[in-house]
Amino acid sequence: MVVRSYEQLRVVLEKERRRLATAVARHPVLVREPAGYGNHVADDATDVFDQAASNSLFRKLKQDLDEMEAALARFENGTYGRCQKCGERIEWARLEALPQARFCLRCQRRQEIR
Ligand SMILES: [Zn+2]
Repeated sequence: MVVRSYEQLRVVLEKERRRLATAVARHPVLVREPAGYGNHVADDATDVFDQAASNSLFRKLKQDLDEMEAALARFENGTYGRCQKCGERIEWARLEALPQARFCLRCQRRQEIR
């Protein structure tokens, strides 16, 4: 798909947000964090591992969902496509690859170094 306008990016974001919201809703919510490593009996190891993997998947889904929602909110307030750090336009190619991007490439790189 060739994306040429912000409106199309918005459609992509909406779609992704819906997909993630469904995935989050279907995911069993885990309240108990794994008890810690190295202190459990061998039989529990798989359970603890599964739960840790499941928890981290859930967190990732939730985090992605938040990103999508934040990006859609920026459409609402007219700041979409602007870097939240320096205020410059975010590179089009970057938005195409990552419609929920908050920062321009330069600011993102700077952030990652820190
Ligand atoms: Zn920037």
